[in-house]
Amino acid sequence: MKSAFIYNKAFSSFKPPKGYPWSVHRTEATYKLCNALNLLKHDWIQVQTPHPAEPSDLFSFHDKKYVGLLKEANSGIFNERWLSHGLGTTECPVYAGVYDYHLLCTGATLIGVKLISEENYDIVFNPSGGFHHAGRDFAAGFCYINDIVLAAKKLLDLQKRVLIVDIDAHHGDQVQEAFYESNKVMTISFHESGKSLFPFKTGFENEIGRGRGKGYNINVPMPENTGDAEFIWAFERVFPPLARSFEPDVIIAALGADGLYSDPLSHLQLTNVSYSKAVKEIVDQAKKLIAIGCGGYQLEDIARTWTLEWAIMNGLGCSEEDVVSFGGNFWGDGVCSLQDRDHFITDETRGKNRQELERIIRSIKKEIFPVHNISL
Ligand SMILES: [Zn+2]
Repeated sequence: MKSAFIYNKAFSSFKPPKGYPWSVHRTEATYKLCNALNLLKHDWIQVQTPHPAEPSDLFSFHDKKYVGLLKEANSGIFNERWLSHGLGTTECPVYAGVYDYHLLCTGATLIGVKLISEENYDIVFNPSGGFHHAGRDFAAGFCYINDIVLAAKKLLDLQKRVLIVDIDAHHGDQVQEAFYESNKVMTISFHESGKSLFPFKTGFENEIGRGRGKGYNINVPMPENTGDAEFIWAFERVFPPLARSFEPDVIIAALGADGLYSDPLSHLQLTNVSYSKAVKEIVDQAKKLIAIGCGGYQLEDIARTWTLEWAIMNGLGCSEEDVVSFGGNFWGDGVCSLQDRDHFITDETRGKNRQELERIIRSIKKEIFPVHNISL
């Protein structure tokens, strides 16, 4: 096996406005924790340094005029004409280096494609990516350049079948949009329902793709307060049979962990135990895996979760005993292991959420599974 952790300390040098939820320090925090736990020092693991993407790398999805505006925004001096493209809002502020930062993040995802396709890597992890809300000609939801779409398009150019699985708390609306009519890319997204979370208008179970893409876009919208047991119950019913049937050459996994109960933005109640079970399942189904960070707004928890997931990707432990053995009091006071402890959810909430998820799974089995000849 060959795996790569994509890291450049330059990620931490960018300075979005104070209080901006998307922390540029998450990658460094994850890298340092992985390093401290000897999770990067194995003969099959390389730390790879990314370089900024070339502007021309963006045009397979993004509009040239939009890229031009984003480049101008790099000065950090606000111009109101950018607002019509989502630039200069609270969600997508303009700051000095905003273009450079996103070129570097995109380059980090695209080097993953290169390592997988040209250098025989099996697993790459870029914590600094996952901008699934960036549209063809607009920025939205902290996202300016859609590295996931760009990576999938590059893989399609290489004749690869691509499965995108997204477990971020927010629906990856613009990834869905980009491949809605394609049967070459399967998109499976588990997220908090748009009834209670951004982007609000998309991500429902009846959005199943169009034309040739019908049956290749799968959404599992989870109700508010969904916890580990219900998430993993739904995940196991949807992801493995579809992944087995689609037989992707490459899986792109958007590993946003903003569904953690400690996260300030979502209303899910997950712990990293269920996230890491999902990651284990993804790894098991992947011939090649490009894992991408995506959302997560509580710095310490996100670093701990991604470190745990990196360990799992590399077969370095997913049982409780293994995790504890390289755990200990490494993260300062209060947190004694990579794994979260149990998080209590009332029986009433669990029952209600289970019922809703059962309804969604029934719908997926009825509308999607027959397209892929999956027997019930
Ligand atoms: Zn998110």
